[in-house]
Amino acid sequence: MVLRLSLCLFGRHIPRRSRVKWDGTQFIATCRSCECAIHRKRKGGWRKTTDESVLQGLQTARR
Ligand SMILES: [Zn+2]
Repeated sequence: MVLRLSLCLFGRHIPRRSRVKWDGTQFIATCRSCECAIHRKRKGGWRKTTDESVLQGLQTARR
């Protein structure tokens, strides 16, 4: 757990597979370690996001 959280600190998040969703332009998900909203980069890997549309997309995905 400590290792995973430290990866988050370096900007390397790991998505919960059950929370991964396509919002029309990109993959969005919730990080399984720190629970933050993340989106997938084009080259691969996940980045934390504060984009409002992504946050809303994740909320609707939980219903
Ligand atoms: Zn994280």
